[in-house]
Amino acid sequence: MKKICIICFFDDYRHKRIRSILYRNQKHINLLKRYRDSIDKMLSLKSEFCKRHTLYKNKPYINQVEYTLKNNKIKINEFMDELISSYQTFIHGKHILAYQNLKLAFDKIDLLNQAYDHNNSNNCIFFRARKKKKGKFYFKEDLFHIKFSKIELVGNQRYSSTGQPFLYLGRSLLNIKEELEIEKKYAQFVYTCYIIKDWKNFKYFRLYNTFEHRFYSYRMNKFEEDIQRNEKDSDTLKAIFKFLLSQFCSFKKRKKGTFIEEYVLPQLIVEYVKENNFKGIMYKSTKLFRDIEASDHMYNLVLFTNYSSDENIDFDDFLEKNFVFSDPQNYNKSNQIKLSNLNSNIKQKKPDFNKYIDIIAYHDSQYLNLKINSRINFGNTPFGKFQHHLINETLKIL
Ligand SMILES: [Zn+2]
Repeated sequence: MKKICIICFFDDYRHKRIRSILYRNQKHINLLKRYRDSIDKMLSLKSEFCKRHTLYKNKPYINQVEYTLKNNKIKINEFMDELISSYQTFIHGKHILAYQNLKLAFDKIDLLNQAYDHNNSNNCIFFRARKKKKGKFYFKEDLFHIKFSKIELVGNQRYSSTGQPFLYLGRSLLNIKEELEIEKKYAQFVYTCYIIKDWKNFKYFRLYNTFEHRFYSYRMNKFEEDIQRNEKDSDTLKAIFKFLLSQFCSFKKRKKGTFIEEYVLPQLIVEYVKENNFKGIMYKSTKLFRDIEASDHMYNLVLFTNYSSDENIDFDDFLEKNFVFSDPQNYNKSNQIKLSNLNSNIKQKKPDFNKYIDIIAYHDSQYLNLKINSRINFGNTPFGKFQHHLINETLKIL
């Protein structure tokens, strides 16, 4: 009889693999159903920590998560069924009904209330890149969202809404590199670093697996005691729902086209989150690494805009006020900066730079020893050092 390791159950990369095994030339609706069945099957298995995860044995929080997971099998299945049925309603052309059903399901579990989420206020630094067109000169606004007077250019993205220009940012160059399939063609793109001035203004929905992070902190002996002590079962269950939702939204796009089946659920969620006055959604890229630590850098942030009919206003006022970003930067070998140089550059700045020192220190502490699949140290690669250059350029204009 097969057994399930609870830590492995919450592994994003494992779920990516489970989904990819289901990929055949099938309709998305059938993939969703088969995925639900595999999750249901896992929930029925006896738990046992695998060799890799034995150190999690007898940890109170892990026991609580396991208890909540196993004791809510019916509710969990109901939730997955509601997702699938909304998708089905949509695909039958009843878009409004599909949204209303999803809204009922989300309201019922109070999905957007995120009292126990991992605190991400340290993450104020983001990146953006664009592929260069021959002979075109790039202005700053080319790295911002699509102008309101050019909404005919708005494309179909996983987290998008028809006719709405959104701003898409990545948490690291590692993420940008994978998302845009840059590989080693660094020079064919222009880049910028975005720094958020006041994080408190940004109420965004964290649509990702929070368990990986919690379990990982356990391993590093940094586990947040208050989560362990205070988390109610209902909050653990909500985190489980969110985990499942993030998985159901992460099916890889399989075919090129104008309509993309895999984007239906994520786009319905965009509508729900927008209606509830959130500024955006943070989600994990579908191009995850096997390594959790490296995968942790694969976050994307999509920010919504408020359209203006004023002929003179082409950009979102809120985003303009709350973000700083540099002119588009070209990649070349001479603009790689070492972390130590960046730090001394910051120290030379005026006192109001102080509040950014912590943010940057945090940002870099995560990169300093980041190994991808236990091999490459990203911070030491030329592209990793270029990331410091981008931060430096934005700091200059803060
Ligand atoms: Zn395991």
